[in-house]
Amino acid sequence: ETVLDAGFFVRWMTAAAAVIDREADRLTELDSPIGDADHGRNMQRGFAAVVTALEAEPPATPGAALTAAGRKLISSVGGASGPLYGTLLRRAGKAFGEAPQVSAEELRTGLGAGVEAVAQLGGSAPGDKTMLDALVPGIEALATSFDAAAAASEKGALATVPMLARKGRASYLGERSIGHQDPGATSSALLLAALAEVAK
Ligand code: ADP
Ligand code: MG
Ligand code: MG
Repeated sequence: ETVLDAGFFVRWMTAAAAVIDREADRLTELDSPIGDADHGRNMQRGFAAVVTALEAEPPATPGAALTAAGRKLISSVGGASGPLYGTLLRRAGKAFGEAPQVSAEELRTGLGAGVEAVAQLGGSAPGDKTMLDALVPGIEALATSFDAAAAASEKGALATVPMLARKGRASYLGERSIGHQDPGATSSALLLAALAEVAK
């Protein structure tokens, strides 16, 4: 069985920062018609700060890695995505406790608790055209494999196109939010793609 240590989580955050860097322009473009065109910059700033923090103070456990990452996202990102992703990672880190290693199943359970915390903080649910539409199916598919999780979250992000936005800035547009892919669902799919990449 796969065992995930602190180094694995640092590699995940580092891979996430890299893919977000590469896709930042696309994330910002998606945030233009239905938002304020800053999602790429917000995510870039946040994950760059996460990598700097983890390098400055290497975490001893998976829980410490995700707790530090989440805290950094909350403190460095002004937009809605900072507190939401920060809560996701912090809550998962808390679920891991002091364990030196976690199993893939514990990762799924921890991220599941994180997603519930995001839904509570955002007052949102799947179908609202948010990051939850990629995170929920993605984390559920972690029960199968890391690749299945990446594929399910990508599919979930694409499925936001016909949705009417009910939360966040996109909801201000009402019907005009239909026909655009949600930027946060798209970045969630990137985070799970980075996870699948480091799990190889
Ligand atoms: P802001 O909207 O403050 O500029 P970002 O552009 O960085 O922040 O992030 C926007 C993304 O955050 C959206 O695409 C959506 O996926 C997510 N989001 C916004 N509000 C909520 C919410 N209430 N619940 C879940 N996700 C949300
Ligand atoms: Mg925005
Ligand atoms: Mg903004």
